[in-house]
Amino acid sequence: MADSTAHVSRSRDLDKLLLRPGHLVGPTFEPGPELRDDLRKFATVLVVGAGGLGCELLKDLALSGFKNLEVIDMDRIEVSNLNRQFLFRLQDVGKPKAEVAAKRVMERVSGVNIVPHFCRIEDKDIEFYNHFNIIALGLDSIEARSYINAVACSFLEYDSDDKPLEETIKPMVDGGTEGFKGHARVIIPGVTPCFECTIWLFPPQVKFPLCTLAETPRTAAHCIEYAHLIKWDEVHSGKAFDPDDPEHMKWVYSEAVKRAELFGIPGVTYSLTQGVVKNIIPAIASTNAIISAACALETLKIVSGCSKTLSNYLTYNGAEGLHTKVTEFVKDMDCLICGPGVLIELDTSVTLQKFMDQLQEHPKLLLSKASVKYREKNLYIQAPPVLEELTRSNLNLPLFDLMGKIRKDIVHVTGTTTNNDKKTSCLRKLRVVFKGIDGATDMDTAGGA
Ligand SMILES: [Zn+2]
Repeated sequence: MADSTAHVSRSRDLDKLLLRPGHLVGPTFEPGPELRDDLRKFATVLVVGAGGLGCELLKDLALSGFKNLEVIDMDRIEVSNLNRQFLFRLQDVGKPKAEVAAKRVMERVSGVNIVPHFCRIEDKDIEFYNHFNIIALGLDSIEARSYINAVACSFLEYDSDDKPLEETIKPMVDGGTEGFKGHARVIIPGVTPCFECTIWLFPPQVKFPLCTLAETPRTAAHCIEYAHLIKWDEVHSGKAFDPDDPEHMKWVYSEAVKRAELFGIPGVTYSLTQGVVKNIIPAIASTNAIISAACALETLKIVSGCSKTLSNYLTYNGAEGLHTKVTEFVKDMDCLICGPGVLIELDTSVTLQKFMDQLQEHPKLLLSKASVKYREKNLYIQAPPVLEELTRSNLNLPLFDLMGKIRKDIVHVTGTTTNNDKKTSCLRKLRVVFKGIDGATDMDTAGGA
């Protein structure tokens, strides 16, 4: 009895949004019980990350009427997570976050089904990501966001007027927090800027100039970085500093204290030393809760149309008082990720191997260790060895033949690329066009018939 009462009161608030018309609704909104039931029955949401944001997101989505959720996370629970990742208990330490988070939410919210995936996001085939209506990101890494963004944008296709095809759009909602600051954004590939269009929002880590550290330190952080970056090498010639070794950290701390005393600078503590050296920004539970709530609401809005979505980037700052603001960023028309794809023109005789060599040299791509996929078919796979062996014979075949002699089409390539001297995994959508082919086999005309 108690359970059914909870159920009614739980959908009561949701019903106010979904069963009634309104002035702020989206263009496709059709209020009624069918909408609520369809949301429960058909909407599938993937939550990426089961940490501070992910725990909140899963709970919020489950309580917002979503019944089919999946969650992916590669981490195991650590003691230091327990102060804010509230789905986890002391006895869960060491267990996969995704599995425990899914179990806990299912225990508390009746009728919700959550499938956990304990693995790296790159371990899933890109098709895995295609069967969700929406992908909600609760991540703390720029690389991981970049990867998921590329996957979601890779499904996007454009028509001959360069308009995005509605049915190929995979919406994303992205949250991020840093101490008392956070953001929530809506990414509709082809419509709003994608993560990569606005990558400048994440400037590279600001490092202190070495001369400041060596000659004119002004802050406690300067003293710590002096001990960490300059003094360590002077004293321990050739021995690498290990931030996870407490002896190393203590040494840097004691050197930083000496340095601070010399210049009369206050504030060097052991925890600040750890924070500066490991570049740790404390995670704040309330910021995670606020940002996740915004993301869950945007997810509900996108799927149901019950209100227009955020357009398109919300920032929140709770450090002093409270400040929020929404900024409408614009698409980068030359974006490699959400645009129609990098155009590659080839002769019909070019083999798969030659094609892959070209990707490595292409100045916009610099893509090495490529695995190549055409539609549902893996043309070449780097790993595991069994699959590499199975697809190896394709390397010497012309790509034109492997693609069924189609004049132009989209090919997906995963691999590694170099970004600011750093190697990162990437996924690229390429528009492959073969030169000197009779227009009669053009897939546009064939498909349009
Ligand atoms: Zn973009």
